[in-house]
Amino acid sequence: HNSSMGYVPRIAVVGGGVSGLVLGKELASRGLHATVFDTGEHACGGRASSREAADEQGRRFSFDHSTQYMTCTKGSRFESMAKEWAKEGLLAEWPADRVGTLKDGSFTPFDDGVVRYIGAGGLRPLADFLAEGSTEVVRPQWVGAMTPVGGEGSKRRWELASGPRGKPLGTFDFVAISHNGKCALRLAETAKLQDGSPAAAKTRASLQCAFGARPTEELKKQRKLILSSVWALMFAVDNPLNVKDNMEGAHIVGSEVVSWASNITAKRRHGKVRTDTDGGGTQCWVVHSTPQFARDNKCPQEAIPKSVADSVIAAMTQEFERCAGLEPGSVKPVFTKVQLWGAANPLTAAGVPAVFDSETRTGACGDWCQGPPSVEAAAESALALADAIDATFSPTTARDPAAAGRLDAAKVRWAPCSGDAAALGAFPGTNVPSMGEIAAAPRREGGRGSG
Ligand SMILES: Cc1cc2nc3c(=O)[nH]c(=O)nc-3n(C[C@H](O)[C@H](O)[C@H](O)COP(=O)(O)OP(=O)(O)OC[C@H]3O[C@@H](n4cnc5c(N)ncnc54)[C@H](O)[C@@H]3O)c2cc1C
Repeated sequence: HNSSMGYVPRIAVVGGGVSGLVLGKELASRGLHATVFDTGEHACGGRASSREAADEQGRRFSFDHSTQYMTCTKGSRFESMAKEWAKEGLLAEWPADRVGTLKDGSFTPFDDGVVRYIGAGGLRPLADFLAEGSTEVVRPQWVGAMTPVGGEGSKRRWELASGPRGKPLGTFDFVAISHNGKCALRLAETAKLQDGSPAAAKTRASLQCAFGARPTEELKKQRKLILSSVWALMFAVDNPLNVKDNMEGAHIVGSEVVSWASNITAKRRHGKVRTDTDGGGTQCWVVHSTPQFARDNKCPQEAIPKSVADSVIAAMTQEFERCAGLEPGSVKPVFTKVQLWGAANPLTAAGVPAVFDSETRTGACGDWCQGPPSVEAAAESALALADAIDATFSPTTARDPAAAGRLDAAKVRWAPCSGDAAALGAFPGTNVPSMGEIAAAPRREGGRGSG
């Protein structure tokens, strides 16, 4: 049962966001067979992706509607990875004078010497590049059931399917769940032995979750993942907005409604690939809400009622105009869309690099493991799980033979991570203003949502 003996262990990676893609690429580079499953219709990427849209006349617009930029902890493995992505032309540096904070109409650029990377041509080229690194990517594919076959430990195999009694998706030696939220929990709950008892109890226990931003004192009491929600407002204007001082992106301070705004068209001009097809004055903007606003203006993310969309668009546009120092009503979009990130960012983190159970041959990785949420946290978690899987299947040749034992022994201890993060997530090595204390929900949260 070792690659050196001719059998190549097959690893299923369920979720093709940054963590799943990095895990798949890393495992394949170490000689394992890595299959990444992802639900993405057009590409992988999860919360690090871009959204293409067209209006009724067929005019095309492109938005980075989740991840805006990334920073790296000095000396981290992620820093080397990001430098490699930049060398490949997938990331570009965002000049410091173009990004900063925005408060009551005043823009203050960052002045901290930190390298801020943006996706060159959006985030899709990066996701495509990472996907190429796995042995195979199956997309769009929902994984809805995992059934154990064989015994425990090295005898354990997993059969995956699109759902209970659904389409079979293959048999694997290890299942890595690289997504979170209700969907991940439901998937782990399908893992049952013949007598109905849980077959992946440790991994499943780590996936307990609930939704809705809440005060730190409440987060401290939680023994599970608490996820925020964030609205993304995407709009295009034909006449450039009269924003101050070359501002291309800003964390908004002092608003209960909006937390971030970025001129995606201008930002993307720092990459080598031009994505503004007309090259003219049309600007695509993304404005993000605060988690509090999203919690208090919640609806099913797959079917947003028009009345909710209209009121969210109106409230966020008006508040963006105020915060950016624009005349009320000066944003006159030729295209508008909203998306609700129901499972946006972890507000608590598990306090482990990744979840790994050698007995059941299951594990999990993602930004919620070590937190605070960021592309770096997602990638580092994937590397930790890759080390443990590598050590399990290639004990003599693994890069870090002790990784499996170490990660197996790590104990999940939930703690709030929101204090270190902006509403969008965390930016290691920077002093980005934290999202601040979140007020209690006006009414009782039902833990509804999707992930
Ligand atoms: C609005 C917003 C803005 C952000 N801005 C920034 C930023 O500027 N900088 C930064 O560093 N971080 C930012 N973040 C955080 C960052 O995006 C995340 O930390 C990171 O992308 C998480 O990656 P992941 O792989 O852990 O999870 P995800 O990206 O969530 O990946 C999970 C993937 O699994 C798929 N999936 C789910 N269920 C299944 C299933 N059953 N079968 C198959 N596939 C499944 C999902 O479709 C998804 O593609 C932002 C997040 C949000 C929501």
